[in-house]
Amino acid sequence: MKKIKKTKIIATIGPASSSSEIMEKMMIEGVDVFRINFSHAKHDEVKKVIKRIRNIDKKLSLNTAIIGDLQGPKLRIGKMRKNSSFKIGDKITIDCKSQLVGNSKKLYVNYKNLAKDINEGEKILLDDGKIILKTLSTNKKNLIDAEVIQGGEVNSNKGFNLPNTKISLSPLTDKDIKDAVLAIKENVDWLALSFVRNKSDIENLHKIIDKYSEYRIPVISKIEKPEAIKNIDEIIKVSSGLMVARGDLGVELPSSEIPLIQKKLVAKAKKERIPIIIATQMMESMMESINPSRAEVNDVANSVMDGADAVMLSGETSVGEHPVEVIKTMSSIINKVENSNLISIASKKPKDQKSERYITKSICFSAAKMANDIKAKAISTLTNSGYTAFQISSWRPSTHILVFTSNRRILNQLNLLWGVKAFFYDGFQTTDRTVEEINKIALDNKYLQKGDKVINLTSMPIDKKGMTNTLRISEI
Ligand code: PGA
Ligand code: MN
Repeated sequence: MKKIKKTKIIATIGPASSSSEIMEKMMIEGVDVFRINFSHAKHDEVKKVIKRIRNIDKKLSLNTAIIGDLQGPKLRIGKMRKNSSFKIGDKITIDCKSQLVGNSKKLYVNYKNLAKDINEGEKILLDDGKIILKTLSTNKKNLIDAEVIQGGEVNSNKGFNLPNTKISLSPLTDKDIKDAVLAIKENVDWLALSFVRNKSDIENLHKIIDKYSEYRIPVISKIEKPEAIKNIDEIIKVSSGLMVARGDLGVELPSSEIPLIQKKLVAKAKKERIPIIIATQMMESMMESINPSRAEVNDVANSVMDGADAVMLSGETSVGEHPVEVIKTMSSIINKVENSNLISIASKKPKDQKSERYITKSICFSAAKMANDIKAKAISTLTNSGYTAFQISSWRPSTHILVFTSNRRILNQLNLLWGVKAFFYDGFQTTDRTVEEINKIALDNKYLQKGDKVINLTSMPIDKKGMTNTLRISEI
């Protein structure tokens, strides 16, 4: 019996990992999804990287998913004179219109409405919160006076966060739109949007996707602003996945609030039956060291036990020294903990009886429960949209979830989902024949062996490719 980890690993691509050689090694060690971070990626390089991934996929018969991660309105300060530093109590002038070179008394920011949007008393955090300023006054045009609450050296082009300010900037910048169009043309499997604040941010990205593609590429909302936490219920309804973006979230909120937010977001995503990703600083010390810290091992393990579909690496794989070893280490942590009976999983029946798909939902729920009861080794499902894969995966059955589809768009996409492995299949003649054929594919790929029980979900009549309405148990 093949032992395959069910929690997925996302690796961010960068200079340390963009060669075919390194990426192939990472895929063999357990990468399921690559993230292209448009904050740093150049278009020519993106196209090459995507081609390389698709080629390795063919060579190794994998379906690696690719996420195009859009930067969103990342705020940055301008150039600074060398050795500029702020001391507690200093008064600083911030200019949001003229691009001056900053020093220990003034700095420029790339957000021309800052003076208009910000209010007295609101905080400005520089360089991931290392430096904290408090707004004293604004002329509502171009200049803001602020006092230094926490000082330090200020270097050019660092990011800044405004946790309390209502930002009027569109979350889809011109750069994001250009990046999204490229990603859509290159057929990425998912898009992720940074600094989402409400549901219209996602709906605006949907409009761009619909303009450039026949297929609605699913969108992951990166939750990294207090405003997104406040609006989470409306955001989740229009999102196909969530990311707990702990990097920026931990700057905008006190970091002590992040652990509970992580757990709440996981629970909400599972209730909606969409995948959830835990991101940032998971194995940070492996940027340089060959071993993770004890705390990092616990963080990865606890994220798996919280119910994450995927855990994500950023700097560790994009610029770190050990992009392959970090995957190997993460895989081994996942393998150790994910089969524990200490993991609590949702077990309440879906209750929305009114929805059109409640029969499908109910069958998926029952299959997941029954799989554990009868000790089945796999649940297989035929799907065109991928809907049943999202449903079954969310109930975290103890089996593999094998998805058979003739829709090439979802083959890689589903690789982000917990426990899911997809196969191309376009038989669909009779139910008997189909079940026989897909069971054989599962057997040939070592997901099943002789004597195993498998739960097959199909829709009858099979050639209509309708909603799932049939649950059948077969023995191999
Ligand atoms: P980023 O997002 O790496 O694109 O900033 C993740 C995070 O903020 O945690
Ligand atoms: Mn971020």
